[in-house]
Amino acid sequence: MTSPAVAAYLAERPGIVIPIGATEQHGPDGLIGTDHLCPEAIARRFGARDGVIVAPTLAYGMSQFHLGFAGSISLRPSTLAALIQDLVASLAATGFTRIYFLNGHGGNLAPLRAAIQEFYAARSFAGVTEPCPVHCRVRSWWELDGVDALRKALYGAAEGYHVTPSEVALTLASHPDHIAATDRPAPPPLADMILHGGDNYYDAADFRRRFPDGRVVSDASLATRQHGEDLLALAVDDLAKDFFAFCRSV
Ligand SMILES: [Zn+2]
Repeated sequence: MTSPAVAAYLAERPGIVIPIGATEQHGPDGLIGTDHLCPEAIARRFGARDGVIVAPTLAYGMSQFHLGFAGSISLRPSTLAALIQDLVASLAATGFTRIYFLNGHGGNLAPLRAAIQEFYAARSFAGVTEPCPVHCRVRSWWELDGVDALRKALYGAAEGYHVTPSEVALTLASHPDHIAATDRPAPPPLADMILHGGDNYYDAADFRRRFPDGRVVSDASLATRQHGEDLLALAVDDLAKDFFAFCRSV
């Protein structure tokens, strides 16, 4: 888009969607780009359909615990937070008042939320008396209502925490030429993993020790391209509802 086109858009609509993800190993099943390709595919399809501006995707995220595997590239938590603060401040300075982050990687959430609070903290500590007109929303694509229901129905406990069948299915739909549709390996035996309850990770060496092939309690061999098409369609509808409600909120 040109700058005048963005200015004209802002006269009609206050909001923008920013897909944010990561570039990190996804075991033997998934693409390294999975976590940014998924929110990007959802946001781009929504933006094109409903005439909403989608910012360039943030392809790098906070993935330090994946650095034991080739191809992973991480920002530090403080680097990601600094980047987000500058993006929010830039969009606020140029007239956007509803900034919607569509997230594709759990490790981003803490730095992302901290950065947004830093943006607001600058006003609060300065004693600004006008309520900030700029609102930010963070939503991970798998939390969207219809998507969450379908992925649980399709995969149950096999959804796991990393290299999930839902994210692999979504990339099968969005990037069919880049990932094998069949012949993905069976899940790693649970006995090979040293579990610690959920998705609270430590350093890269600890992650690799616990999860030798990079997958965390997930069975992406269940993923199909049709699942991905269904998840994508639901995600676009869910995102539309959530984004427009956010834009109307006071
Ligand atoms: Zn992922």
